[in-house]
Formats: sequence, C-alpha cells, structure tokens
Amino acid sequence: MNILLIGPPGAGKGTQALYLEKTYDFQWLATGDILRNEVAKESPLGKNVAAILDRGELVPDHTMIDILRQRMATIGSQHQKGFILDGFPRTKAQASALEAMLDAQHMTLDAIIVMDVEDEDIIQRISHRFHCTQCHYVYNALFHKPRREGRCDRCGATTFGQRRDDKGDVVRHRLKSYHKEVSALLPFYEHGKSKKKVFHIDAMQAIRDVHAQLEHVLLRAEESKRCVK
Ligand code: ADP
Ligand code: ADP
Ligand code: ZN
Repeated sequence: MNILLIGPPGAGKGTQALYLEKTYDFQWLATGDILRNEVAKESPLGKNVAAILDRGELVPDHTMIDILRQRMATIGSQHQKGFILDGFPRTKAQASALEAMLDAQHMTLDAIIVMDVEDEDIIQRISHRFHCTQCHYVYNALFHKPRREGRCDRCGATTFGQRRDDKGDVVRHRLKSYHKEVSALLPFYEHGKSKKKVFHIDAMQAIRDVHAQLEHVLLRAEESKRCVK
C-alpha cells in the first residue's frame, strides 16, 4: 500500500504516519524531517535550505525532486509493505515527477489521504507542539503530553525542543502557502487517473479517532486495489 498524506502544517501527518509505520510496517518518508536533519548536520544541502525553512517557504522543486528520487530508489526494492509520503509532493511539478518515478519502478499510489483541519486549530496545535531532542518523538502541551512529565515516553530522555519555524508569523505564512499549494495540487489527483483514490478525513478529531478513520480508509483502498486486479 503506497500512501500520500496531505494536510496543513500541524494536521497530525507525522503523528499518524508514525502510527501507520508501526502498525503496518510501511516505510515513512517525511521531506520536512529529511531537510531538518540536513540542517542539523550542517551538510551543504542543509546550509542551502536553512534560511528557506526558517522563513516557511518552499525549497525549489529540483532540489526536492532530487532528494525524493534518491530515497525512492531504495524503497522499491526494500519495502514490500509500501510507503507513506508526508510533505511531498507540494507542487504540480513535484506530483508529475513522483508519477514518473513510480511508473519507472512499476509502482502506483493506492491512497491519497487529505487531512482536513481548520486554521484556528492548526495555530493552537502548532504553538503547543514540542519534541524529544533525542528521538524526535512529537508531543503537544495540550493534547498529547508525555505520560511522565518531563520524560520522553519513547526513549526516557528529559530534554525537549521546539521547531524553529513553529512561530507566529512563520506558521501563518506556511498555512497560507499550504492553501495555495493544495488548491493547485488536489485537482491533479481529483481529476486525474487517481481520482478514485482520494480520501478526505476529519483530522479535527482526537488522535485515536483519526487512527480509526485511517484504518477504515486503508481497508477501502485495499478493497478497490483488489477490484482493479
Ligand atoms: P504535522 O506532521 O502534520 O505537521 P504533527 O503530527 O506534528 O503534524 O502534529 C502537530 C501537533 O498537534 C503536535 O503537537 C501533535 O502532538 C498534535 N496533534 C496531532 N494530531 C492531533 C489531534 N488529532 N488532536 C490534537 N492534537 C494533535
Ligand atoms: P509542515 O509542518 O508545514 O507540514 P514539513 O515538516 O513538511 O512542514 O516541512 C517543513 C519545511 O520544509 C517546509 O516549510 C518547507 O520549507 C520544506 N519542505 C518540506 N517538504 C517540501 C517540499 N516537498 N517542497 C518544498 N519544500 C518542502
Ligand atoms: Zn525521546
């Protein structure tokens, strides 16, 4: 099962992708995480994109497509269960490049899942988002606290951090550009050959209820995959 997760910043893409990765053993690829990792390593790529990330703008298509091509080349052969793409594609050029990469590897997308959340909730979620600095597990000061205060549930570390781009103006800018991106991107899927594979879910619900909606969508996607075969 190959899945695209589309949703505004703070929709819960990472939270849900981690759950799907653990439950179904999918390979999760998050382009934001890949870029932040490069920035932390101070690699040449990281140095090139750091300021773009801080401003909440998009990294150029050719850079993103190169990154994805490298990652996809390893997925095809190693991951039988499929992948979850989170954060890519964000433009029509990226979507077309993805189609070409998948075609070349005789792979297809099985579910394009759009996580709908209202802007006000996004701002609230993002301003309370924090993560463990060791294992990068994501928490929320209002909605998803560590079980023991000050200690990471997953790795036991006691230091936490916030994303540099999770600040007022940058969040609003990312949100505005998401609406622009998605209005260009969704028609590509909703009117193209993938139109029956687009599923909207209500991502305003609690984390556990969103898990349940996703499981239901995956069942439906699996059924229609079988019907096509
Ligand atoms: P994204 O990857 O889409 O940017 P995250 O998974 O990092 O989003 O979630 C954004 C923030 O909102 C995190 O602090 C996370 O703990 C919290 N969160 C995720 N899903 C929900 C939900 N359904 N309800 C409330 N808070 C959520
Ligand atoms: P969000 O929390 O806004 O969903 P991500 O973690 O997916 O954000 O991405 C963080 C930042 O990384 C974006 O604001 C953008 O600068 C860059 N980025 C990630 N994926 C892409 C992409 N596919 N195209 C262009 N820029 C990207
Ligand atoms: Zn941790």
